[in-house]
Amino acid sequence: MKQHPLPLLATLLAALAAAAALQAAAPKPAAYPSTPLEKKIRAATDKLAPELISIRRDIHAHPELGLQETRTSAIVADYFRKLGLDVRTGYAKTGVVGILKGSKPGPVVAMRGDMDALPITEETGLPFASKVTAVVDGRATGLMHACGHDIHTTMLLGVAAVLASVKAELPGTVVFIAQPAEECCGGANLMIEDGAFKEIVPAAFFAYHVDDTLKAGRLGYASGFMSANVDGFTLEIKSEGCHGASPWSCVDPIVVGAQIVTALQVLVSREFSVHNNTVITVGSFHGGSAPNIIPRSARLEATVRNYGEDQRRVLRDKITRLVTNICEAAGAKFDLAYEFGTMSVYNDPALTGQALATAERVLGSKAALVEQKPEMGGEDFSYFGTIAPAVMFNLGVVPPELEATAVHSPTFLADEAAIPIGVNLMANIILDHQARAARGAFKK
Ligand SMILES: [Zn+2]
Ligand SMILES: [Zn+2]
Repeated sequence: MKQHPLPLLATLLAALAAAAALQAAAPKPAAYPSTPLEKKIRAATDKLAPELISIRRDIHAHPELGLQETRTSAIVADYFRKLGLDVRTGYAKTGVVGILKGSKPGPVVAMRGDMDALPITEETGLPFASKVTAVVDGRATGLMHACGHDIHTTMLLGVAAVLASVKAELPGTVVFIAQPAEECCGGANLMIEDGAFKEIVPAAFFAYHVDDTLKAGRLGYASGFMSANVDGFTLEIKSEGCHGASPWSCVDPIVVGAQIVTALQVLVSREFSVHNNTVITVGSFHGGSAPNIIPRSARLEATVRNYGEDQRRVLRDKITRLVTNICEAAGAKFDLAYEFGTMSVYNDPALTGQALATAERVLGSKAALVEQKPEMGGEDFSYFGTIAPAVMFNLGVVPPELEATAVHSPTFLADEAAIPIGVNLMANIILDHQARAARGAFKK
């Protein structure tokens, strides 16, 4: 049957109207900033941005190595004092803790920024590029904030200033941690050992690291393990030494060492699941002085990477078994010194999920959040995770004109637009965390 065109049009129009009504009724995501507090945070951040950028440039121009961050530490302590924070200094030599007490009841939460620079001679050509030099291990070198810790420290100050400006509406207490020596000496652990969190114990820790693969406005994350255990060993294989022409007269420590290097790679591929990320790299192998002398020793140094406390022990035990048995099979005496270094960062999944919900709202879309694979590098933020759930996010800093930039390189460049973005976001993450806790356990 042929339908009359007019009723068909009417049906179509009615369907369109119904669809429009349905769309209008569906809850729209609240545009950010929507609440009065969010608006205040945003306005305070915008106002502060030029000052933060000049602080960052000043810190960038005056980099300091781990446990020597006296100038940076003084800037942080002065800034915290001016904000009215309770300031404590001297943890791990240059570490600073600033405590901001909100006017409403709530838990203690912490943000960490690390302060140390690297022995790298800067080649960025920036007007505020570092001209600072030092002698490190007998070698003259420039110093440079090539890992973005100048930005981390600046954002720490920024979040402190912004949250101090809304103190009357802040539930609980925020502890701002300016940490020394992330690159060299496990400053996080040193601050903990110095009692920085004995009196005041945070219930959660947050931090950023700059990300050299993402643009400003994007946030990288990994829920669960994010960085690896940085363990390692030194092995000395011993021999009586003998003539190279009569190798049956003594143990050859070079041959034994070579067998161990190869067997370690077999260990990784045959005794660990492909899903269990494990790396063993023998980066140093020294022995001998001439082609016709079997030396009295060979020395191997290795870095060993994987995730979690249980796995690092399994790996240590397997490496010890392998080294012991190969040396014994060859009749070689040996000294094996195995060391646990920085532990892997574990981002608490619940805390990560809550913070990501805030990030999606504040950064405007899910597309701003980039899930990342755990790295095999190390980061001592992990030690704060032994106190309470912790999460570290990677904040995009790649300048608009570049595809990528590279931390730990003399040409590392960061987009300063990331500073207010990071400050605004972290202030909201902390406020949301505190408000959520205040609605629950701290309601009474
Ligand atoms: Zn670094
Ligand atoms: Zn770093």
